[in-house]
Parts: sequence; C-alpha cells; structure tokens
Amino acid sequence: MKLLIIGPQASGKGTQADLIAKRLGVPHLSSGDLLREEKRSGSPLGNEIAALIDKGELLPDMLVWEMIRKRLAEHPEGWVLDGFPRTTSQAAMLDAYQTPEKVVLLDVQDAVCIDRITGRRVCAACGKDYHIKYKPPKREGVCDNDGKELVQRGDDHPDAVRRRLADYHAKTEPLLHRYQDRLIKIKGDQGIQEVWAEIRKRMGI
Ligand code: AMP
Repeated sequence: MKLLIIGPQASGKGTQADLIAKRLGVPHLSSGDLLREEKRSGSPLGNEIAALIDKGELLPDMLVWEMIRKRLAEHPEGWVLDGFPRTTSQAAMLDAYQTPEKVVLLDVQDAVCIDRITGRRVCAACGKDYHIKYKPPKREGVCDNDGKELVQRGDDHPDAVRRRLADYHAKTEPLLHRYQDRLIKIKGDQGIQEVWAEIRKRMGI
C-alpha cells in the first residue's frame, strides 16, 4: 500500500503515520524527520538547511524530492509518506514517479494545532517526539529512548508556527482537490486512540 498522510503542523500526522505503517508492515517516511536527521549530522547540507527549517520555511522542492525519491526507491512494497508532498509541484514530482493509492487527511483547526505545538518537545539527540500534556515522557524533560534532554523545536516557536500554518493553507491544502478521488478525511481533533480507531475503521485495517 502506498499512502499519504496530510494535515497541518501538530495534527498528529507523525503519530498516526507510525501506527498505520506498523499495521500495514511498510515504512513510515517523514520528510521532516529525514531533514532533521541531516541537520543533526552536521554535514554541509545539514548546516545549509538548518537555518531554513528553524525559521519554519519550506526547503527547495528538488532538495526534498531527491531525499524522498531515494527512500521510495528502496521500498517498492509500499510506504506511508508524511510531510511530502507539500506543494503542487512536489505532488507532480511524486505522481510522475509513483502515485499514492490512498490519502488520509487529518482535519484539525489552527487553534488546536497551536495549543498542541506549544506543548511539543523533542529529544535533542534522537529526535523522538513528546507532548507535555498528551504524550508525556516517563520522566519529565528526559527522553524515554536514550535519557537525553527534551527541547522545543526551533520551528515550534510562535513566528515559525504562524508561517508554517499559513504555508499549509496556501500551498498544501490545494492538494486535497488533486487527490479527492482517494481522500479519507478524519476528524483529527480527538485523542490519539480515537483518531487511530477512526482511521482503522475507514480504511478497513
Ligand atoms: P515537519 O516535521 O514535516 O513539520 O517538517 C519540518 C520542516 O522541514 C518544515 O517546516 C520545512 O522547513 C521542512 N520540510 C519538511 N518537508 C518538506 C517539504 N515537503 N518541502 C519543503 N520543506 C519541507
């Protein structure tokens, strides 16, 4: 199964993409995770993209596409793609290569996203994500995986959040029309388990 998951920042895309991918036995490919991995590596490319990511700006289409294309090529059996495509030109690149069979939309109002983003924390070392209210770590401020410090992402600060939500409405939402024949719209402003139950029911998985 080749599946896209679309939604605004903090709509729960990463969490639900993980659940769907495990259920279907395919990898969860997240453009944001791949880019943050590159950023953490301290490579010349990583340093170049770090500033743009922290400001909440979209990276050049070709740069992100090259990274995603390599991963798609490694997994002909299928994937759950999260964070890509984010613009109509990215969608055209993807569709010309392999078009998704299903598209899950997590529908969440901006106000809910902003509330969720404020509480979001990530591990500075491994990148695992948490939420102080909805998905807390076992020990406050510390990653369950590796015991390292939890921090707020640079692009989770208010100015960057506003920029990313505006980009989502202007550039990513038009993709819903493109994929309307395979769109599964889910009410995303519920708890993790409720959203997951609705996805399973609607997809029959
Ligand atoms: P995310 O974790 O999906 O919110 O992505 C974090 C950041 O990575 C975004 O704010 C962008 O700066 C960059 N990014 C991720 N995916 C894309 C994409 N498809 N196109 C351009 N930039 C992206």
